[in-house]
Amino acid sequence: MLDSLGEISTDYSNKAQNWPALILNADYRPLSYFPLSLWSWQDAIKAVYLDRVDVVAEYKEVVRSASLILPIPSVIVLKSFIQPSRRVPFSRFNLFLRDEFKCQYCGKESNNLTFDHVIPKCKGGKTKWENVVAACNICNLKKAANSARQVGLKLATPPSKPSPEILLNKGRKFPPQNLHATWRDFLYWDVEFEE
Ligand SMILES: [Zn+2]
Repeated sequence: MLDSLGEISTDYSNKAQNWPALILNADYRPLSYFPLSLWSWQDAIKAVYLDRVDVVAEYKEVVRSASLILPIPSVIVLKSFIQPSRRVPFSRFNLFLRDEFKCQYCGKESNNLTFDHVIPKCKGGKTKWENVVAACNICNLKKAANSARQVGLKLATPPSKPSPEILLNKGRKFPPQNLHATWRDFLYWDVEFEE
């Protein structure tokens, strides 16, 4: 049972063409990291207009209407603090991040990771943190609808639901690409930024 998931993208360059604004909580930390909290420029400008946010940094680009010219915000900060969610979304990216983008059977890194149900779906295995791991094509095909033991595969660690802190720590090893330069001061990734 092969759930092919294709490429995992942490490249923000496409989104950057739409001038997204990085949203900071009132404590100047990103509202979320995975995924990174970004708003469209339209939503960012609306929030500025409604006085819900302060603008921290701007793009060079502007939007024009009949009566005014507004620089597009690149970083905005909420005026009131929002309690960050403790919920870690069960997403493809978060699952691969938990498993550090490595096959949990052979330990190899792969650009073509798939999901593997430890207890196969056809045997009642659920799609949840505790039963899904990252696996390379080869191990996934080998395992198919068997248990790992039946085909001589062994799990590196039993899968579990990660806390936001664990995910954030693992995230430090996998910086996204093409983050905007004005976001640098508010993010922890030590990466080269595009001007
Ligand atoms: Zn493998």
